[in-house]
Amino acid sequence: MSTIHRLSDLLINQIAAGEVIERPAAALKELLENSVDAGASEINVSVRQGGSRLLRVTDDGAGISREQLPLAVARHATSKIATLDDLEQVASLGFRGEALASIAAVSCFSLTSRQAADSHGWKITGEAGRPAAEPAAHPIGTTVEVRDLYYNTPARRKFLKSDATEYGHCEEAFKRIALSRPDIAFVLQRDNRVPWRLARCQDHPERRIADLLGEEFIAAARQLDERSGSLRLWGLAAQPAYSRGSRDTQYFFVNGRFVRDKLIQHAVRQAYHDILHPQRHPAFVLFLELDPAVVDINVHPTKIEVRFREANGIHRFLFNALNKALAAALSSPPSAPLAAQKPAAAYQETLPLAQRRPPLGTAERVNLYQALFGQVARPPAMAEPAAPAPEIPEIPLLGFAIGQLREIYLLAQNEKGLVVVDMHAAHERIVYEKLKQALDSQPLSAQPLLIPVSFPATAVEVATAVENGAILEKLGFAVAMLSPTHLVVRAIPAILPDADVVTLTREVLREIQAYGASRVLTERRNALLASMACHGSVRAGRRLSLAEANALLREMETVEHAGHCNHGRPTWFQITLAELDRLFLRGQ
Ligand code: ADP
Ligand code: MG
Repeated sequence: MSTIHRLSDLLINQIAAGEVIERPAAALKELLENSVDAGASEINVSVRQGGSRLLRVTDDGAGISREQLPLAVARHATSKIATLDDLEQVASLGFRGEALASIAAVSCFSLTSRQAADSHGWKITGEAGRPAAEPAAHPIGTTVEVRDLYYNTPARRKFLKSDATEYGHCEEAFKRIALSRPDIAFVLQRDNRVPWRLARCQDHPERRIADLLGEEFIAAARQLDERSGSLRLWGLAAQPAYSRGSRDTQYFFVNGRFVRDKLIQHAVRQAYHDILHPQRHPAFVLFLELDPAVVDINVHPTKIEVRFREANGIHRFLFNALNKALAAALSSPPSAPLAAQKPAAAYQETLPLAQRRPPLGTAERVNLYQALFGQVARPPAMAEPAAPAPEIPEIPLLGFAIGQLREIYLLAQNEKGLVVVDMHAAHERIVYEKLKQALDSQPLSAQPLLIPVSFPATAVEVATAVENGAILEKLGFAVAMLSPTHLVVRAIPAILPDADVVTLTREVLREIQAYGASRVLTERRNALLASMACHGSVRAGRRLSLAEANALLREMETVEHAGHCNHGRPTWFQITLAELDRLFLRGQ
């Protein structure tokens, strides 16, 4: 056994680097944060070979004096806090004083800086304590150069992925900082190209978001800005139609710091829950601002996680704020893709025209109503000029059905023009909302089956059915064991008369088995009802009579969230007469 001895500073820093500087992108993040903390208004980044060959960050911030340069790379040396009180109120991104020391310990490192009062800059190379500063040419501000990261820690070097992958992480670190600071100009150079050049735009923060995430995101996003007490949440949250297959467009900042936090993720997911397919991920750029004293950012060395003192209150606030923004988004339908394809200028031109179109007069409304509803009321053979109906109903929001396309889409006519409805999606949404309402007030009413349906079941399914009779009953099912290998269904929820009995029952048993009876009725409740609605809704391919179609439209109007099905797909589109006119080059 060896004797106990103190580790050298270099080794301590190398060990720490394993934690703080996990990969080149982590070093870049630290350097960018330092430049932001130094009050830079312009930051230039250069990345070579995914950052493992070179990371260089230059800023025009406050700089570091000659005397302080060696301290900057010393471990646990920082200018940002001095006491525990400071830590509780910390407003800077850094405060642990370990980034530069760690980076310097595992790379060929240099730091060059000049303050406004100095006539030239000073430069140090190598790790802490070793070198003296030497004069160097530099404008006001600081350059940190990190060459050959992990050259002396081969074990870590081996974990690096391809240059392209490492660059991808660097770019992500860059985007996070750039999104949070539209008041700073950024340039990112990758090898010999310049993929990002971002102008300052502090008065239009959404400009920066558009630069980085694209106009498509902006077009799909809802702005929100909610306050409650000292809490503020603002930013952009995309409507479900823009949802992603991964979490790559989720940017959440707490007091300007990018974080990835379970509590936040949960609140966001819940807000999107009813309108987003479980396998899709919402896209957002959101900024939470709150008193720094109520959030602990010193939970993790890279500060990516945070801890809130009032976790429940924060959760509630986030959920409510997002829910409100998304609900507002849902009550107005997404515009037809048709309109989106038009060049912006063309759209602008025709817009006033569309607005000038006078609302339908009473006579026109009567005609339209008769043309549409009259046909529903009596067979075409008996159609004859009829006296105007004494009561002239308003044309409903979604208008009246005029036919079906391929038995998938329902076409309707309203005051603005054509309405196209995805029948399955719309019906699913209606059934889902009805299920929710029904379960809120009482157990779902059961519809006994004229002929009970039996089906071969696994041992798990049989056991789940036998042990959970009460909850199944609550959901409107009567399921019993017929034999150890067969179940029989005697009743299903009355709201789902068209459902495939076996598929529906299996699905419900699977949910109960996977999550347990109590969770199925609480946090999993909406997911369960969504999948029940999906199995119990009109499938595309069924022909509806006009009366049925109109009934569907009327139900859609009364149901909350009718603009989207519960998997996040839109349920209907409006195509205006102006848009149709444009297609046919009328009035241009
Ligand atoms: P921390 O950021 O946690 O304080 P760092 O190791 O990242 O620790 O940096 C140590 C110190 O070096 C900082 O507190 C700051 O005073 C100084 N420093 C680092 N980078 C810069 C920079 N780009 N401009 C001005 N000062 C800097
Ligand atoms: Mg730092």
